[in-house]
This record gives sequence, C-alpha cells and structure tokens, in this order.
Amino acid sequence: MVSPYELTLDEWRERLAHYPRFRADQVWRGLWQEGRELHELSSVPRALRDELAGEYSSQLVVESRVESDHGSTVKWAFRLPDGASIETVLMVYDDRVTVCVSSQAGCAMGCTFCATGQAGFTRHLSEGEVLEQVMFAARTAAPRRLSNVVFMGMGEPLANYAVTSRVLRRLHDDRGLSARHLTVSTVGVAPAIERLAREGLPVTLAVSLHAANDETRSQLVPLNRRYPLSRLREACETWVEVTGRRLSFEWALIDGVNDTDRAVDELSAFAWDLRAHVNLIPLNPTPGYLVRGSSRERVREFRDQLRERGINVSVRDTRGRSIAAACGQLAYVTEGRRGVSLRTRAGTS
Ligand code: SAH
Ligand code: SF4
Repeated sequence: MVSPYELTLDEWRERLAHYPRFRADQVWRGLWQEGRELHELSSVPRALRDELAGEYSSQLVVESRVESDHGSTVKWAFRLPDGASIETVLMVYDDRVTVCVSSQAGCAMGCTFCATGQAGFTRHLSEGEVLEQVMFAARTAAPRRLSNVVFMGMGEPLANYAVTSRVLRRLHDDRGLSARHLTVSTVGVAPAIERLAREGLPVTLAVSLHAANDETRSQLVPLNRRYPLSRLREACETWVEVTGRRLSFEWALIDGVNDTDRAVDELSAFAWDLRAHVNLIPLNPTPGYLVRGSSRERVREFRDQLRERGINVSVRDTRGRSIAAACGQLAYVTEGRRGVSLRTRAGTS
C-alpha cells in the first residue's frame, strides 16, 4: 500500500486517465485542500473510492496521543507499517498553527543531549510519511488553518535530502503553504545546506550550532568532526549569498558548557557578519544526558549579553516539556514509564 499523499496532481491525472479529468482534480483537492482521507471523498463515486482503497492507504497509525498547555500542544506517536515509530507535535498559537514533523525514525547523528540521538537511527521516512504528518495535524487543527511546518522532530532532514526537498516543494505546491513558513532545522550538513540554497525555495533555515568553538561543538554534535565550524561557516555564507535570506542559529543552553562569557564572545563573533538570528533554547531534560540546562536567570543574562553585542536574539518557549514533546525530547519509545505517567497527568489519551 502507498500513501495517497505520495501522488502529485499530475500523477493523479495519470493514474485516473481513464476517468473524466475532473475526477483526478477532485481527489487531489479533497486530499490537499479539504484535508480529507480517501474514504471521505463523498464527491467521488463509491466504486472508484473502493478501487483506490485497495491501493492507497494512510501510513500512520496513532500509537499514543498526549496533550498539554490546555490542549494547544498535542504530541502523537505514530506507528509505521514496518513497525518503526515516529513523533509529531502540533502547536496552536494565537497567530499561527505550527506542526513539528519527523524526517527520520530515530537519528544517526548522535548529539549527546538529544533523546532522538540517544536512541539511534532506524530509517529514513518516505515523502508520504512526512506529508501525512502535516495533513494529520492540519485535520486536527481545523477550523484553524495550519500555517507553519518545522522540521524539528525526529531525525536530520538534510540527511534525508531528497525526501525533504520534495516535501518542501509539495507543501508549497499542493498545500499552498508559504515557503517562508517552512523551516528546516539542521545539525549542519554543510554540502546539503549549499544544495538547499540552490533549490530556489525561500524556506527558513535554522542551524543547530550550540557551540562556536570546535572542541565543545565536537563533544555535543559529533558531525562537527566531519564538518567543522570553518566548513559550516562557508555553507552559511553560501546560504545568505544565494538566497538573500537570513538564517538562525539554535543554541540549547547547557549549564557550564555553552553558557559562559566565553561562549557569548564566540557566538557573537560567529553570528555577527552573517547577521544571523540566535534562538536560545533552554535545554530540555532527556534521560541519557545528565548535565543540567542553564538556570532561567543565566538564560536571560546570556540573551542580554548577546543583545548588548548587537545580536538579534530570542528565547524559544519550552512548550510541550511536560509531555516530553519539547525540542530534543522526541524518542521512539513513548510507551515507557515516562510516557504513560505523563499521559495520565495530562488527562488525555
Ligand atoms: N536534526 C535537526 C532537527 C531536529 S532537532 C537538528 O538537529 O537541527 C530540533 C532542535 O532541537 C535542534 O535545534 C536541536 O539541537 C534541539 N535539541 C535537541 N535536543 C535538545 C534538548 N535536549 N533540549 C533543547 N533542544 C534540543
Ligand atoms: Fe539528530 Fe537533531 Fe537530535 Fe542531533 S539534535 S541527534 S541531529 S535529531
């Protein structure tokens, strides 16, 4: 079985070539604009729906659902047909509705402070599996319109490059999302950043920097040994030159590791010429990393010190922390004790 979201409008036209042309348009519109599932396409004749049901079906089975922030944050664990699990988070704000999608089941990058990295890599997701996460969240958010997609769930989107770039294009073409509202977060796969810059998609790029000296960064982000800061910097410069867009640096503040005065100097030196925006993320707790996040007070001070140096900086909220849905907390075992007790606390299932 294939996900119905794998097919583009042209592919639906080809698949349904022996029907009047408007049928393909109806199916495509129902799936993408109305966010319906195939069996809900009541304008399509029953016989055709049954025929399609034999070939296409949703790839995501809800394994668990947890809510927090009075229902405005929802995290799902989905099981895929081969048994792999992924997580997706929906965040409803006053001015936007954002879904955080996974691009891989697990992650091979092994960042020490990240629950997904601690759990290891299972496999890449397919185009349909990523798109279905978006459409699932869009259906849940209705009647609010899903406006933003961030690739900040499980996995390294630029390690699954072909799928990520096609998904970005299709969210723009099929779902009509503004490319500016699509954010790719990467740990710093330098050649892939350069390639993405040349795709002609004005998406937003977030680079997970976390340290601006090679020694510390290599400890936190093993990929830094392959693409050290000088190489990453080149890629960031190419991004800015080619796209004309700013990028942002993500920085998870870890007590005594990357929240020192020296770190302020190194980060401002790295971000300044690039005119990059800095997003500070208070470190979220994960089971396999015992170092603490910086205190709230230090987070504020660190922000102020960067501001004094003229850096454009903000502090990311820790939405979803109580349900282990915040940045870096997505692991593929949600049925463990932690998941169950938190779900009970949130009072939903
Ligand atoms: N692989 C990509 C995208 C997924 S991770 C990347 O690394 O950028 C999404 C964001 O969560 C990244 O900025 C990552 O550095 C951050 N993150 C990972 N673990 C975290 C933790 N324990 N606390 C806060 N942020 C974390
Ligand atoms: Fe992978 Fe990103 Fe986690 Fe690093 S921070 S292990 S790249 S998901």
